Amino acid sequence: MASLSFDRIGKTYDDGTVAVANVSIDLGDGEFVVLVGPSGCGKSTLLRVAAGLEYPDAGRLLIGELDVTDREPGDRDIAMIFQNYALYPHMTVFENMAFGLQQRRTPKAEIERRVTEAARTLDLARYLHRKPGMLSGGQRQRVAMGRAIVRHPAVFLMDEPLSNLDAKLRVQMRAELKLLNQRLGVTTLYVTHDQVEAMTMGDRVAVLKPVGSTAESNLQQIDTPQ
Ligand code: ADP
Ligand code: ADP
Repeated sequence: MASLSFDRIGKTYDDGTVAVANVSIDLGDGEFVVLVGPSGCGKSTLLRVAAGLEYPDAGRLLIGELDVTDREPGDRDIAMIFQNYALYPHMTVFENMAFGLQQRRTPKAEIERRVTEAARTLDLARYLHRKPGMLSGGQRQRVAMGRAIVRHPAVFLMDEPLSNLDAKLRVQMRAELKLLNQRLGVTTLYVTHDQVEAMTMGDRVAVLKPVGSTAESNLQQIDTPQ
């Protein structure tokens, strides 16, 4: 568990596109912050910077007191959950959840312990031997969560994780994700362009605007929803 701080982050792509300019956001330990704003305002870029999939050309990224700005993705205590959760279809639920830990050479007994624990938390214990094709959309989404949870990260990054689900399931998964954040106490940065999602899920909502030619920062405001 730890806080996450974007400290005056800037990111300009190689073709000259300024995606993020001078953005500072502090997420408290265990806090759930939702990031909103129109398409192209830099939401994904900011998440990718946090995940280490892009490196900023200005500013620092801190997890707790630790400066992780220059660290590899695998070397920062962060797990990212994408909208296209791309489970491995030929692997069981257990194997899908275990995969990342195996890559990290986690001992087998520890993998079993963590996957079993995550499966219990996510109500997937009965499905560990199934393949993703035999699961519902909500269950598949939970397996994707499981892959992140088993790593016991300090921070979750979620990039529109519910946008592929139908309306009913989306409402249900909102509540589940929020509960999970509270139960595990994992600091979470959540990107959406769904206003209702932002208002109902966020402890705070950070609003980005597109970088203008003269913008000093594209962080417009950060508020606590009513
Ligand atoms: P959002 O997630 O809010 O839609 P993005 O972070 O995807 O915004 O994009 C921010 C800006 O950066 C946009 O103008 C987008 O076109 C541009 N952009 C994103 N990725 C790249 C890239 N790899 N190379 C160049 N420009 C990019
Ligand atoms: P292997 O024989 O390849 O060493 P295991 O004997 O550990 O693998 O597991 C065989 C299968 O049983 C795995 O593919 C996995 O799907 C499942 N499995 C292993 N451990 C558990 C567990 N704790 N809970 C549920 N399923 C498990």
